[in-house]
Amino acid sequence: MRPSATSNSPSEDPSLVEAPILHVDLDAFFASVEILDDPRLVGRPVAVGGAGERGVIASASYEARRYGVRSAMASVTALRRCPGLIILPGRFERYEELSAQFHGLIGELTSRYEPLGLDEAFCDLRGLQRHGVRPVPAAHELAERIRSVMSLECGVGVARNKLFAKLASREAKSKVLAGRLVPGPGVFYVDPGTETRWLAELPVRALWGVGPATAAKLDQLGLGFVRDLARVSEADLSAHLGSAMASTLVSFARGEDPREVLSDRPVKSLGHEQTFGRSLVGSDVLDAARTHAGVLARTLRERGLLARTLSVIVRYDERDEVRRSQTLAFGLDDEEALYALAEALLGSVDLARSVRLLGLHASSLLLRGQSQIQLRLDVDDAEAAAPPGAASSAQDAQVEREALRDAVDEIRRRFGQGALTRVSELGTALARQRGAHAFGPSRAR
Ligand SMILES: [Mg+2]
Repeated sequence: MRPSATSNSPSEDPSLVEAPILHVDLDAFFASVEILDDPRLVGRPVAVGGAGERGVIASASYEARRYGVRSAMASVTALRRCPGLIILPGRFERYEELSAQFHGLIGELTSRYEPLGLDEAFCDLRGLQRHGVRPVPAAHELAERIRSVMSLECGVGVARNKLFAKLASREAKSKVLAGRLVPGPGVFYVDPGTETRWLAELPVRALWGVGPATAAKLDQLGLGFVRDLARVSEADLSAHLGSAMASTLVSFARGEDPREVLSDRPVKSLGHEQTFGRSLVGSDVLDAARTHAGVLARTLRERGLLARTLSVIVRYDERDEVRRSQTLAFGLDDEEALYALAEALLGSVDLARSVRLLGLHASSLLLRGQSQIQLRLDVDDAEAAAPPGAASSAQDAQVEREALRDAVDEIRRRFGQGALTRVSELGTALARQRGAHAFGPSRAR
């Protein structure tokens, strides 16, 4: 697989009809924004995250990655690998501002785009074919526009479906190999004619939804690469991974991904919000989130819907508000799972301040039954629903807990977790000057 040439004439461009999906992903977003806003950081190893004993890295610059620093890594480990690492607390207001600008630039290309967190989006260019828009050149132009307007780098994947587009954007980015930075092509086109051969050679953990817990389980089964999945039947895989994950992985291994780019998500959402009579602080906010998760789960179930995106909204007494959201590879309608995700999202929100409103919103909704991608933790329900002879529902619940743990890890990787950052531990005067938000309940000052 090589990056596509863009010199084809329109009539010859194979991406025109067959590969209309783009996945755009900003490079090392939080860390890049910090470097953008403070030129003194250029060329230095920079990370955003919690600097305290229990802190976790949310984003690391390429310079930091050269030392082996990765997102989701404990900050203590990161500092051991890179003693000169500058760990900055996150400034989510600033990230949200740039995220809106990023989505705005994508919106100039097409209205059919689906944001995935702050720094990623899918686009569907099928409707633009008749206007002569070709996906690969459009991807190059979009990357160039983001670079010139925002001074940020991104990777763009161009492919037939979301699965391949997301895998391709990673290939488009620069990589660190053996401590050296290897520049990426910026745009990576997956040729539909050879896509399954390319996919077969990727490690299973490259697949969306396969986090460390699921990857470890697959590894125990001797299934380290996507090609290995072709050797096992879905029934065998179900016995080990549960039916939802097994059917998802079998589809992915064949290169199948029926998910559409959902550009109309804001309309299709369900939510539960409450303004409190007396403002809440700390664990009382989490207790309220649990109640909200119960209400939301009931509403989803009543309507036969599953949610793939969960958002939390926190409004403070001072009227400013914070939103966090995460989109998953699978759908949920389960109270316990919704709460686990809400709690992880709230881990990067300052709950030491007085909270007057808490909202939980579900979007990217799927009809239950139409989706093979469903996660359920409710063992009683699963037992009732399981046909005779199905794999043990207790075991299903266990593997689904692992998938949920991966999803929670993913949230912590994106936003950092509730690590109480004390600015004195940051060790840099730089961090103090910025007056930014710490990760977690304590406020940086
Ligand atoms: Mg990114």
